[in-house]
Amino acid sequence: MKLNEKLTNALKEGYVCDRCLGRQFAQLLSGYTNEERGEILRQYLAMLIDSGEKIEVNKNNFHSIKFHLKTVKTENPGKCSVCGNLFPELKKKVKKIVKKLNEYEYETFLIGNRPPSELLKKEQVLWEKVGIEWCETIKSEINRVLGKEVEFLTGKRMKRRLPDITVLYDLNTDEVKLNVRSLFIYGKYQKLVRDIPQTTWKTRIYPVAVEDIVAKPFMKQTEAEDHTLHGCGREDVDVKCLGWRPFVLEVVKPKKRELDLEKALKKVNKSKKVNIKDLEITNHKRVTKIKSMRPDKSYRAEVIFEKSLENLEKIEELQDKVIRQETPNRVLTRRADKVRKRRVKDIKYKSLTKKKLEITVKTQAGTYIKELIHGDDGRTQPNIADLIDNKVKSIKLDVIKVHCD
Ligand SMILES: [Zn+2]
Repeated sequence: MKLNEKLTNALKEGYVCDRCLGRQFAQLLSGYTNEERGEILRQYLAMLIDSGEKIEVNKNNFHSIKFHLKTVKTENPGKCSVCGNLFPELKKKVKKIVKKLNEYEYETFLIGNRPPSELLKKEQVLWEKVGIEWCETIKSEINRVLGKEVEFLTGKRMKRRLPDITVLYDLNTDEVKLNVRSLFIYGKYQKLVRDIPQTTWKTRIYPVAVEDIVAKPFMKQTEAEDHTLHGCGREDVDVKCLGWRPFVLEVVKPKKRELDLEKALKKVNKSKKVNIKDLEITNHKRVTKIKSMRPDKSYRAEVIFEKSLENLEKIEELQDKVIRQETPNRVLTRRADKVRKRRVKDIKYKSLTKKKLEITVKTQAGTYIKELIHGDDGRTQPNIADLIDNKVKSIKLDVIKVHCD
């Protein structure tokens, strides 16, 4: 279909405003708004008519135009048959969006919308007449118009990639929803005490987690809604982590985006339970990165056995050995029963008393250390308890290094 044909088809029945007309030709020429395109095309068609060409269109489309050679009778066309004069109305709607945005601190934003469904139907009808070769969608034009108006009213910037806030405006229900981008803070932590979990337990079995302690000052700074700690692996609740473990703290739906890392670090390190260091602002990609890291870890265990210690040299058999671990009994309810193989990269031991042994061991990520020591009813093979023919009474375990550098 050529341009002339498209143009007459578009104006054949009802009245179509400049913006809706121009939008069907949005990809032709740059440097023009759709409104300008529509105006040019309407004038062009009017000139053809004035020159004497017979063109079958709804003459009310030329109500604003003064003909010179021909007499063309027109009536006031009223509202646009496609958009129903939506666009002048949009400016009023923007106030509602801006009001909602004002609850947050932000520099950049993006707007998405759901156009009224009847309007989409009318757009469809028009496309059946003129095709979609050069068109822009009404949805995209609404986004742009709203965006420019928000920019004008707020002085903030529209941004396609990773905007601070994405506005979702439903024109059917007049509802404005905001999607506020999380803040991400990278760092490393030490857990200095036992019996606190890494992440917040919503059931509150444990009143405080590493996550809560780390997040607290950031929550205060940002007045955020929630937080999530993404750790590079985790230690058991009763295990201290004296080695520095990488993490990314995600601050969800922050009201403010300005962070004082130094101040937060000092607050956390005053807790005596958790230390943090190497803080930096990062993005969501870092979460995937630290989640996929599989660093070796070194542990120190203080183990009390039932009988007096003997045959300790047998522990050396574990040096560089690949051990076979079935999913431990203690986590079977939460995790699938499968076999994992992990290498013991280094192992040392020292007897502290007659029944108390200190073991330092470096293993691949994901090794169950307690099970390596007590054997878990034979589910871990080989294991220290079997090797030295003794039974474990208790284990105190510390992570002493996360080998991630
Ligand atoms: Zn229109």
